[in-house]
Amino acid sequence: MPEIASIGKVYALASIPMDPSTGLACGLAGLLIGQQMEIPVRRAAEHARFGRPWYVCESCGAKLAVLAGCPIYGLVRPKSVCPNCLTPNSHPTRARWLALTTAVAGAIIGTHFGTAIALVPMGLTALVMVAVSAVDLERMIIPVRLVYPASILIGASLVGVSVVHHQEHLILASAVSGLAAYLVFLAVHMIVPSGMGRGDVRLAGLAGMVSGWISYGAGYVAFASAFLLAGLAGVIVMLVTGQGRKTKLPFGPFLAAGTLVGVVWGPAISAALLHTGA
Ligand SMILES: [Zn+2]
Repeated sequence: MPEIASIGKVYALASIPMDPSTGLACGLAGLLIGQQMEIPVRRAAEHARFGRPWYVCESCGAKLAVLAGCPIYGLVRPKSVCPNCLTPNSHPTRARWLALTTAVAGAIIGTHFGTAIALVPMGLTALVMVAVSAVDLERMIIPVRLVYPASILIGASLVGVSVVHHQEHLILASAVSGLAAYLVFLAVHMIVPSGMGRGDVRLAGLAGMVSGWISYGAGYVAFASAFLLAGLAGVIVMLVTGQGRKTKLPFGPFLAAGTLVGVVWGPAISAALLHTGA
């Protein structure tokens, strides 16, 4: 079991060797799970209820064959058309993007955390972040009914991992980071409601809780990366579309990417910054 070491006042999972085989396994798991996430993502985006039957036509509600959910085949099969009303799937590539993104996130997290039990909360976070980002990209909303249950589940697993590692102080660090991120985003939301949505505030709480559990430095790197990536994307969108600052980008995907950077490379980046006095 990898050690959790304390570096000064910054706590971090210390020098875990890279684990490519776990990375490969997690990448494959991400491919399969990401494909199945299409249903919760679609239901959350459409404010539809969760529950059976899972595979139904978006237009007429007819029950569909579960071919869409077949591992791998569901990703490569030709464009699906409802046999009842002949309406084609309005998002033929969504399952593929979800599968691909989850596979990449899974591979990075699996390679980094290996078989350490921290893989459980980090893997759960990756799944939720991908799903929430997909809904945010599509509808510019961050679904509460994904973020709240996920935050409780991930928080509980972080507590469990901390206790197993006899590093109970990480629970406090995680709670402090999550609350701090939530409150800072809430303040921004109250000052500029158009710039920061309520959903971003809640997701920031989750991002802070998870990255802050790794270390305060990782939490800092997570949010700095999120804003950096969002800023870069904003500039690129402005250059490409030629529109002014009117173009609004969803912030969820950047918060998700920032959290990944924070939990994986945050301790190294923050250590490098501190050592150079930056
Ligand atoms: Zn139909």
